[in-house]
Amino acid sequence: MIEQRDTVDGAHFAFTDRWGGVSAVPYEELNLGGAVGDDPDAVRTNRELAAKSLGLDPAQVVWMNQVHGADVVVVDGPWGSAAQIPSVDAVVTARRGLALAVLTADCTPVLLADPVAGIAAAAHAGRPGMIAGVVPAAVRAMVELGAEPSRIVARTGPAVCGRCYEVPDAMRAEVAAVEPAAHAETRWGTPAVDVSAGVHAQLERLGVRDREQSPVCTLESQDHFSYRRDRTTGRLAGYVWLD
Ligand SMILES: [Zn+2]
Repeated sequence: MIEQRDTVDGAHFAFTDRWGGVSAVPYEELNLGGAVGDDPDAVRTNRELAAKSLGLDPAQVVWMNQVHGADVVVVDGPWGSAAQIPSVDAVVTARRGLALAVLTADCTPVLLADPVAGIAAAAHAGRPGMIAGVVPAAVRAMVELGAEPSRIVARTGPAVCGRCYEVPDAMRAEVAAVEPAAHAETRWGTPAVDVSAGVHAQLERLGVRDREQSPVCTLESQDHFSYRRDRTTGRLAGYVWLD
């Protein structure tokens, strides 16, 4: 259920795997995504189970309607209703105890927190979001609220790796023109993109030093959802919150 959990000075970071929930094939078992065709009751139960295992109130978890863009919104409480969930790829909060969640199945989930300033952020960085700068946008929004890049702790979760994420040559060139660190090659020698490497390069340039990257490749791991491998599948979640 919770594959990785880390706490730094009262800032909590967690990523799920696909096991321990109630969803049926092909969303088995812990699908946390509400827009992938799974039974809404199963998703609600899964979100409750995951929150409980993290010691969180499921009503105090903020989800996004992710659209592969670079828009960021500041939140200070849960959305009033599903219709109020904004279409953004990053959320930032200064409210301690409020958990921010990001859904992925190959894209890079990015969790950020400045424990001193009490500012947290979650971002969804696929290839389009990474080149659009969603992660730098999230860091800028944190800084506007009082965060300091040198104090920001960054964790990126399970994502498709640069040796698996094959793309056309022209697409790799387009990505590398924006973010050279994302230039990659598959295991079989064809053009590829490494989104997580791109995200970490962006964070490094912004002065975020405490960075860790999950070693897990979603496409290679049967314990994780992978859109590129399975197409119709569930979503993993990353959670960040401050005490
Ligand atoms: Zn891989």
